[in-house]
Amino acid sequence: RGFCGPHGQPPPLLDPQNIVATWEAISLGRQPVPEYFNFAHDVLDMWSQLEKAGHRPPIPAFWWVNGMGAEVKWNFEQLGQQSRRAANVLKDTCSLQPGDRMMLVLPRLPEWWLVSVACIRTGAVMIPGVSQLTEKDLKYRLQASRAKSIITSDSLAPRVDAISADCPSLQTKLLVSDSSRPGWMNFRELLREASTEHNCVRTKSQDPLAIYFTSGTTGAPKMVEHSQASYGLGFVASGRHWVDLTKSDIFWNTSDTGWVKAAWTLFSAWPNGSCIFVHELPRVDAKVILNTLSSFPITTLCCVPTIFRLLVQEDLTRYQFQSLRHCLTGGEALNPDVRDKWKSQVGLELHEGYGQSETVVICANSKGMKIKSGSMGKASPPYDVQIVDDEGNILSPGEEGNVAVRVRPARPFCFFSCYLDNPEKTEASERGDFYITGDRAHKDKDGYFWFMGRNDDVINSSSYRIGPVEVESALAEHPAVLETAVVSSPDPIRGEVVKAFIVLSPTYSSQDPEKLTRELQEHVKRVTAPYKYPRKVTFVSELPKTVSGKIQRSKLRSQEWGETRGSPRK
Ligand code: ATP
Ligand code: MG
Repeated sequence: RGFCGPHGQPPPLLDPQNIVATWEAISLGRQPVPEYFNFAHDVLDMWSQLEKAGHRPPIPAFWWVNGMGAEVKWNFEQLGQQSRRAANVLKDTCSLQPGDRMMLVLPRLPEWWLVSVACIRTGAVMIPGVSQLTEKDLKYRLQASRAKSIITSDSLAPRVDAISADCPSLQTKLLVSDSSRPGWMNFRELLREASTEHNCVRTKSQDPLAIYFTSGTTGAPKMVEHSQASYGLGFVASGRHWVDLTKSDIFWNTSDTGWVKAAWTLFSAWPNGSCIFVHELPRVDAKVILNTLSSFPITTLCCVPTIFRLLVQEDLTRYQFQSLRHCLTGGEALNPDVRDKWKSQVGLELHEGYGQSETVVICANSKGMKIKSGSMGKASPPYDVQIVDDEGNILSPGEEGNVAVRVRPARPFCFFSCYLDNPEKTEASERGDFYITGDRAHKDKDGYFWFMGRNDDVINSSSYRIGPVEVESALAEHPAVLETAVVSSPDPIRGEVVKAFIVLSPTYSSQDPEKLTRELQEHVKRVTAPYKYPRKVTFVSELPKTVSGKIQRSKLRSQEWGETRGSPRK
């Protein structure tokens, strides 16, 4: 039996506070993970029962808008029915068996959430991807994962057709569209015809739930596998304490569906009984985001720092956010300047968190905790997070080293199972008792972590080690700087020096570049240790970014060092 009641039968009616407290205790590592666990059965169907029994305010569990008048609202019961229909489509039409893999590449459409839940109901392993994937990206992902089925929309279908002959494992293709396409089955039609009766499969906690391809910020994306319990239970506590979610909250995370942040919203909001709010947001547009916050009773907002950087360019005092009370960010470093601007104009703190596709939340600035500007917060339980040297020895407060998570004697349950089909890479990610994240930081004596940069992004100039984030944050304080990326650049005397690529605020774009360079250099020398100032500065119109909005410093670095010569750390 699953821990929330016999499988295949309605779960017993319990007090919602007790149920959430049980999940939270497991999530914190204080109670053992049950042998069997299925998020759809044990969490969603449970909330359906609680909702029927009047234990939840009358807000939807899922609320989708497209900004042009279309709207979808489901409570947990309706979500259950729709996702059971979707599960029947996967089981009957696509013949997906537990363990079979399904690629899920959709814009922010309600079907993404339905199919995610349907995969869990059928035991199929979901492989989310972003809509910007090219033919080459799709081929790489379909071949590497041996996915049996794909669900996507009109824009991506031609790209799938162009490469599907090279992907022999791919057997069925589902299209989310109001029109038809040869070789594809129309998901919306199938959904309408499918039965709402479906027996959720019994999954063991260790069975795979999802495979994620990492963002590829630093190289070829890796396949990261998470178990049913890892994602299904691993976000409950951070959902409660960092995202500060309750059953009255309406949580909007603007993340693309292809990125882990969409999954962690799902797995942190629904156990806590919260509503997931989604705007289709075909393009990231600051005004659309701000108007949406003004028009809907959204209580909780999460955006990547790139988006907050855009939002603070607007006159925020012109907007009245209806219900907003808690804001979060993560995925890359938040410059203190952006946090200050948001706080002073909106009156709300920005709570930064840090994690990876391989993990759940590693560090966070939880609700109620004192925030130290520029720090990504403290270790998020149940993780034991340390700064270690390259042999896995724990370093003292203040010493720079690898951000690492303890995996021995016991690997946390909320952790990736492995890099799929790549045991060497999985093994290489560990040193001693620790998993090495690939990021550099230091921890202060109060247990706060200070991100320095990815391993490869740290600059070594005349034996000084310089983290790009510190220089970027210093530059960001200057009104001329809209965005910046700092990388190492070759220098005949110093070996390497700090170089800043800067996107200027529109009001500064016509200024004399040499004068502005000197001004910015002086500014950095004033606000941080002078040796960190960028000896080279280039003004650009945009920075290279991953589809999830992260700055790709590695691209700029190889541009500086030349592909053939390579950077000193390669
Ligand atoms: P790849 O591993 O393929 O290079 P990726 O590391 O960008 O891709 P993700 O797993 O999505 O893929 O991103 C995790 C990384 O994002 C972290 O290791 C860290 O470098 C960065 N990151 C996440 N949150 C923060 C944060 N709050 N501050 C600084 N960096 C962050
Ligand atoms: Mg990574």
